[in-house]
Amino acid sequence: MEFSLIDRIRQLTAQHRDDVRLGIGDDAALLVVPPGQELAVAIDTMVAGVHFPVGTAATDVGWKALAVNLSDLAAMGATPAWALLALSMPGADTAFVDGFAQGFAQLAQSYRLALVGGDTTRGALTISVAVHGFVPPGKALMRTGAQAGDAVLVTGTLGDAAAGLQCVQRNHPRDEAQARYLIERLNRPTPRVAAGLALRGHASACIDVSDGLLADLGHICASSHVGADIEAALLPRSSALLDLFDDTTSRDLALSGGDDYELCFTVPAQHVAAVQADLAKLGCGATRIGRVVQGEGVRVRDREGHWLESGHQGWDHFNA
Ligand code: ADP
Ligand code: MG
Repeated sequence: MEFSLIDRIRQLTAQHRDDVRLGIGDDAALLVVPPGQELAVAIDTMVAGVHFPVGTAATDVGWKALAVNLSDLAAMGATPAWALLALSMPGADTAFVDGFAQGFAQLAQSYRLALVGGDTTRGALTISVAVHGFVPPGKALMRTGAQAGDAVLVTGTLGDAAAGLQCVQRNHPRDEAQARYLIERLNRPTPRVAAGLALRGHASACIDVSDGLLADLGHICASSHVGADIEAALLPRSSALLDLFDDTTSRDLALSGGDDYELCFTVPAQHVAAVQADLAKLGCGATRIGRVVQGEGVRVRDREGHWLESGHQGWDHFNA
């Protein structure tokens, strides 16, 4: 489609890298994987009205489209390098494309990530970003290594993005500053790339929290053939979340709310303190929320020690 749109995207996202032999402009990009590294590749699609509210600022959409993908690389312990962008839009909306490319570039810059190609078509507003990163052979963080006795930890705070979505939908935030913080967490998630790199060689399993803690920790449990016991009282919750929502609601948002893009990971008990010290230096910190047990599935215990009813499921797009 629109060549000038592609040119705008190219200019606004320009990033030189020696490992890009040929970027945007030919039939395919030519890229050089550093010797001795494995390539980690991921793709995620965002559909307007499904993955972000219609009316979200173009800059935020651009940021988030890349952030959710960098979060997948973070969860593998990979160093981001390149991206591809497939953009479908109802019309040649240059204002949207400019905003989108600026938001995308803002986040890309901090990782010196290069946008090396893509595709631009007419259709419902849909954005697919594919990312590529490097990881030394055998060092990737996977979902499969959790062992009974390991601690379960999570970076940052949980439930903020889902709370931010409620603030957007309700339109009447009770507290401006707190609501703004939560909406920022929804629209501008911070991929925990540095945390993922720091976890290489320490975490036994890792996943990013995109669909909600219970759902995503459930994936670690299924892949690792273990269960997990979580203490609701230990769930890290932001002061904004606690100020705007009651204890039960904020707890449920932290358990089941999606879109936070924090890392959930397991660590042998004797390494917890060292890992927490490392992640504290990176700013996000990490909170121990429970432990890996024999068996299957995720169980949650409340403050009084009662097991919560199951039924807190992460958002499944096909059931929603
Ligand atoms: P082709 O017909 O060979 O697919 P296109 O016209 O689709 O060529 O794309 C021309 C060039 O622009 C290619 O290098 C492609 O990777 C790049 N490109 C197209 N759309 C985008 C986009 N949304 N973001 C980045 N690069 C893009
Ligand atoms: Mg094309």
